[in-house]
Amino acid sequence: MDRYSRIINKNCREIVLLKGYPCAWGKCTFCDYTEDNSRDLQEMIEVNSKVLSQVTGEFGVLEVINSGSCFEIPEKTLRLIRSIIKEKDINQLFLESHWIYRHKLQEMRDFMGIPIIFKIGVETFDNEFRQKVLNKQADFKTPQEVREYFDSPCIMVGIRGQSKEMIDDDIRILKEYFELGTINVYTNNTTDVRRDEELVKWFMEKYSYLEEDPSLEVLYLNTDFGVGD
Ligand code: SF4
Repeated sequence: MDRYSRIINKNCREIVLLKGYPCAWGKCTFCDYTEDNSRDLQEMIEVNSKVLSQVTGEFGVLEVINSGSCFEIPEKTLRLIRSIIKEKDINQLFLESHWIYRHKLQEMRDFMGIPIIFKIGVETFDNEFRQKVLNKQADFKTPQEVREYFDSPCIMVGIRGQSKEMIDDDIRILKEYFELGTINVYTNNTTDVRRDEELVKWFMEKYSYLEEDPSLEVLYLNTDFGVGD
């Protein structure tokens, strides 16, 4: 499992994939990466410290992800991140959080003491698909509600049952309401949620121009940021 990487094509930054406690929700139908979650505090701290020791601060920007929300990262690791921020002159952090923690984001901003780009896996702004099919447990109704708390949504495209109109709408919403966003092209995993190859082909043709868009990062594989397995 690669847990450290450098992103150099858009929004240059270092990225680390840390271990955290089990995702507080843990029931999204498409998700099997909670397998990286742990309850062994010592193991998490050791793995995370080793990964974080690779951070150089070369871009002044660090993204920290775990298979869940940043609030599930052990406190000792969060303190280590905070000291690395100071030591390595890091001036911007990317973190990810589920909607359920939206009222705690400011607490994290205060704790880290530098600007944070908060990502959120909305998967789609189509409320019915997100809640009923993907079982995301993120009950906002409008993009504006998300924007009140978060900076950069992640959406998924190419899931069986999604429509072209839903994807068009999601990309329009990302561009209209947010400065940054991530588009994950769905890849099959151990869950029953399946990829729609036709839809992926259509997306890749219609939206190939997004490769040049500095505000949207398109991930064709889960490992495109250079971390994961
Ligand atoms: S919130 Fe994220 S980590 Fe948790 S189950 Fe859903 S997709 Fe997986």
